[in-house]
Amino acid sequence: MSFARSILQSIGRTPLVALTRIGGELPVPVFVKCEHMNPGGSIKDRIALAIVDDAEQRGVLGPGATLVEATAGNTGVGLALVAAARGYKLVCVLPEKMSVDKRVALASLGAKVVVTPNAPPSSPDNFRNVARRMADEHGWFLTDQFNNPANVRIHEETTAAEILEQTRGRVGAFIAGAGTGGTISGVGRRLKAALPGVRIVLADPVGSALADWVETGQLGPDGSYAVEGIGASEAPANLHREVIDAAERITDDESFAMTKRLVQEEGLLVGGSAGTNVAAALRVAARGNLDGPVVTVLPDSWDRYRTKEWMQDWAR
Ligand code: PMP
Repeated sequence: MSFARSILQSIGRTPLVALTRIGGELPVPVFVKCEHMNPGGSIKDRIALAIVDDAEQRGVLGPGATLVEATAGNTGVGLALVAAARGYKLVCVLPEKMSVDKRVALASLGAKVVVTPNAPPSSPDNFRNVARRMADEHGWFLTDQFNNPANVRIHEETTAAEILEQTRGRVGAFIAGAGTGGTISGVGRRLKAALPGVRIVLADPVGSALADWVETGQLGPDGSYAVEGIGASEAPANLHREVIDAAERITDDESFAMTKRLVQEEGLLVGGSAGTNVAAALRVAARGNLDGPVVTVLPDSWDRYRTKEWMQDWAR
């Protein structure tokens, strides 16, 4: 017999795929890491498991405990899987702009969903402030993906280690957007330690303040954009500027057009931030002058965007 003791064992070890159709003409190959193939459909399964493992090891989670997180949805789905498999309760706090699909998915997974207005970080109604207040008031465990160092660490230990193994240690550039910053900071740190010539590039939506911050240390103006899960008006603690070499700014139109190409030309069934990452990766690859291939991540699956205007447009 060959079986896993729990679905949690199938988190990670995702395929690395070459973009042969979209990236065929470029001076260096572009590889995408298929994080949408994790059991919960996103890269966030990795950090959900890592944060709970870490808290259990530190003895701060008791049987039947309640986890609370401020999440755009994907971390919530990952935490819901882990909570189900380990016997915890889960409360997810998310801002109004996040898709109805994500809310329904979380509630169906047994999580309690609290929706907050789209409020800036300084407001008490901001989703992160609401989650923190609920943790304090009820004695719940705040998984705290924006600050918890277990987030960055798991990307060093697993995502980056897998990329190094899958490319046999040849990476010219790594590109990723930042929500919490865990992916780019963790992968970036490990790749830089292993490969001194590697370039780590932030893919940032136009309207996010992070691209300016990477380049100058000063936050850019705070605008709006529709791509979910990446970009911010303030730099999160888990985003480590010192490992990032440059930033690429990508519009919503570019992101969604690239997502459509990934789905329809490569059969990669991914969400909007994958389009942002790949649009930036293609720009970096087109400039060439790199020590090896360009690698990026496909953070989540298309299934959570079906009700979004940009995906509905494809069918019209
Ligand atoms: N894409 C999507 C769809 C996400 O939900 C997230 C996480 N918020 C990211 C990208 C960015 O990942 P990280 O938090 O590791 O920066």
